[in-house]
Amino acid sequence: MFGPPGSGKGTQSVTLAEKYNLLHLSTGDMLRAELKAGTGLGKKMEAIMAAGELVPDEVVIEMIAQKIDSTTGKKGFVFDGFPRTVEQAEALQKMLEVRGMKIDLMLVLEVNDVELMDRMKKRALVSGRADDADEAVINNRIEVYRSKTEPVIEYGRSTGVSRQVDGVGSIEDIFDRLCSHIETII
Ligand code: AMP
Repeated sequence: MFGPPGSGKGTQSVTLAEKYNLLHLSTGDMLRAELKAGTGLGKKMEAIMAAGELVPDEVVIEMIAQKIDSTTGKKGFVFDGFPRTVEQAEALQKMLEVRGMKIDLMLVLEVNDVELMDRMKKRALVSGRADDADEAVINNRIEVYRSKTEPVIEYGRSTGVSRQVDGVGSIEDIFDRLCSHIETII
């Protein structure tokens, strides 16, 4: 699931995972759990996350590999907030290949910047996330998305798996749009 910060990919991923018996894997959630638990890794990543920058590729790649290998009883995975760089996308593809899996679909939620900023400001009131509270950090996260993550969409386009989805509207309508793409491949 792709989309800029505030595009609704977290909300939609959770519900999609429930509906299709997939494991929801959010690298942001995993990193925040490390921070909360006060682990060595969490402490190392804290400043990077607070600034809205990306943590090193190898950190998230390793987290994802561990989760894939320890999961049973699911039909697949919804990756939320991963891959965020072309290097991560290549690593994911290799990781899946050696395990006899593949990327089936890349859903890209499209939301304009004005709407994004509005949603992020509302989310800041309830999320308790330090990186949601500061407008400069939000802007940086959007900028990082445009410069480092959007090239991953091109990568998905070249492999034929990416689908653009209108991310503006009610949560239910957007969910239906996403499901209609998934239904074409199952
Ligand atoms: P998110 O909850 O997906 O918005 O992620 C929150 C923060 O965690 C990001 O701003 C990054 O600092 C870090 N992060 C999450 N996922 C990744 C990733 N795939 N690659 C690098 N950094 C990540």
